[in-house]
Amino acid sequence: MVVDAHQEKLSFQAEVKQLLDIVVHSLYSNKEIFLRELISNASDAIDKLRFQALSDPALFESDSELTIRIRFDSEARTITISDNGIGMSRDEAVENLGTIAKSGTREFLSRLTGDQKKDAHLIGQFGVGFYSSFIVADKVTVISRRAGIGAEHGVQWESAGDGEYTVANVEKKNRGTDVILHLKEGQEEFLNEWRLRSIITKYSDHINIPIQMLKRTDDGKETTEWETVNRATALWSLPKSSVTDDQYKEFYKHIAHDFEDPLAWTHHKIEGGNIDYTCLLYLPKQAPFDIWQRDTHHGLKLYVQRVFIMDQVEQFMPHYLRFVRGVLDTTALPLNISREILQDHPSIPKLRSALVRHVLDLLERMTKDDKEKYAGFWNEFGNVLKEGPAEDFGNRERISKLLRFASTSSDAAGQMISLDDYVGRMKPNQKKIYYITAENINAARSSPHLEIFRKNNIEVLLMTDRIDEWVVGHIPEFNGKPLQSVAKGDLQLDEIVSTDAEAKKEEEKKEHDLQQEFDGLLKKIRSILDNKVKEVRLSHRLTSSPVCLVRDQNALGPQMERLLKATGQQVTEVKPILEVNPEHRIIKKLHAESDEEKLQEWTHILFDEALLAEGSSLADPAGFVHRINKLWMEMF
Ligand code: ADP
Repeated sequence: MVVDAHQEKLSFQAEVKQLLDIVVHSLYSNKEIFLRELISNASDAIDKLRFQALSDPALFESDSELTIRIRFDSEARTITISDNGIGMSRDEAVENLGTIAKSGTREFLSRLTGDQKKDAHLIGQFGVGFYSSFIVADKVTVISRRAGIGAEHGVQWESAGDGEYTVANVEKKNRGTDVILHLKEGQEEFLNEWRLRSIITKYSDHINIPIQMLKRTDDGKETTEWETVNRATALWSLPKSSVTDDQYKEFYKHIAHDFEDPLAWTHHKIEGGNIDYTCLLYLPKQAPFDIWQRDTHHGLKLYVQRVFIMDQVEQFMPHYLRFVRGVLDTTALPLNISREILQDHPSIPKLRSALVRHVLDLLERMTKDDKEKYAGFWNEFGNVLKEGPAEDFGNRERISKLLRFASTSSDAAGQMISLDDYVGRMKPNQKKIYYITAENINAARSSPHLEIFRKNNIEVLLMTDRIDEWVVGHIPEFNGKPLQSVAKGDLQLDEIVSTDAEAKKEEEKKEHDLQQEFDGLLKKIRSILDNKVKEVRLSHRLTSSPVCLVRDQNALGPQMERLLKATGQQVTEVKPILEVNPEHRIIKKLHAESDEEKLQEWTHILFDEALLAEGSSLADPAGFVHRINKLWMEMF
């Protein structure tokens, strides 16, 4: 049968070798999934054929009855999964089965721990597909031919999963792919009709292509009649009431190439409105390993009238919802749509805004009905969703409601709160939502900027993600309440804390006196720090720290400044304002100090301390250490 074989022995890409080992070991406890994975690949291949045949019907080669067929041979100890899908050429077989094209694979593999349970979990989200054959087989033979090329251009690919494989040219009459598994010793359980049928119904019932097995006689002999084992209808086209949770879950695993169950889903059939569509959208439980990679594809599977058109269509989901998986089936697009035409099709914005609404509805429902589940979602995807207010102006308010932050009132378990929670707890006269940005939660909690808030028992949101400052920059207000950084501008807390006119007057007088008293010192500090600060002034925020740095209301905060610098962007440096706490013992001492040299040394120390407290680095750390040591020595 082999024609002019051109047999070649090739090595797997190093990553494949590694992955194969891990797959075989970590997924062994759930070995029956090999069949689901191979059926999933076969169904994808048939989808591709059906789509390409729309513009080139010759690809059907007069065989348009699309099926996946499964046979087993107890004597030869083989299981064969055949499809009459798009097939592979020799080059494609080498490329697809011998290498992994995903970027970030090496990094992903380096995260695996050797702990089978954890690895199985990670591998699941990576998607191992074809390689799962080697869980049960010690040799896999793939015979394939691409649709539309001559029978003599078939390819036979074969491997024992030990690092090498062979490819040879063969003749293959029917287009498509046969995957032949030569079962390992001890895997005889799969050479059983009922076992195979039950795996198919368990995992692959939703596949919308007939999966067939040969009918057998009562004594187990094969007849020649093929029988469809699965339901073979498009799951999303069924009414919700006729789909079980398990079927929804298995369908998700197929389309998302995820081994884990989804976190939640939402299924809609919209007809008779201004646009007809059916969508089934899923939230994964776990972020895929490459969610932060720029070139990663995401998006939905697009069907037009049940015909698969394209995978990973990004146009239907904004970037901040790129974790959503699912299918969209619509009559609003033509069957012969290409990726290019899709870009500008007038139905896209309508479909997109409808789908976004479904996802936001789903998330909103979760925040109400299942807070714990939502917390899990937030943990995985919160940082992605945070891109929303900047990207999707129209939904800014809705997305803002979904954001979660730590706060000074959060319990020790670090429970996150929503902006609605915050607003509900605001003081009677409080007009703004206060927040602080810092590198981490401890830095935020111990920041001097919080002192006055703590004293007056005013809640402050603690923002510790690198992008938080950028995020709030796109949420100028929530519910009519502006968001205000505690480290920016001149704080006006008086109206919240004291309403008593008498007390207010007294405060003002005290402030006036302090101003007069410390004017000289402030000027001196200003001249010592010279070009490092924009201004030196008395503070309204400090109770237990001597100094802190604040920024102008509209200036970048230190966190944002670092973020921009880290991404190589030009940052115009804005000098900070040094605020001084006249009640503090150190400041009083400074005030009384007549030795100019000491005053200078101490001022520099205080300024550097203020920089450290806000998480910035020092221009001259060694100089700082030197000064501190000197101060110490004076105490001996
Ligand atoms: P994935 O399906 O996640 O891409 P796999 O390792 O399962 O990864 O398969 C790798 C590639 O091999 C597929 O993307 C596809 O191009 C090709 N392939 C696998 N099985 C088939 C098949 N039955 N028919 C045609 N191509 C296939």
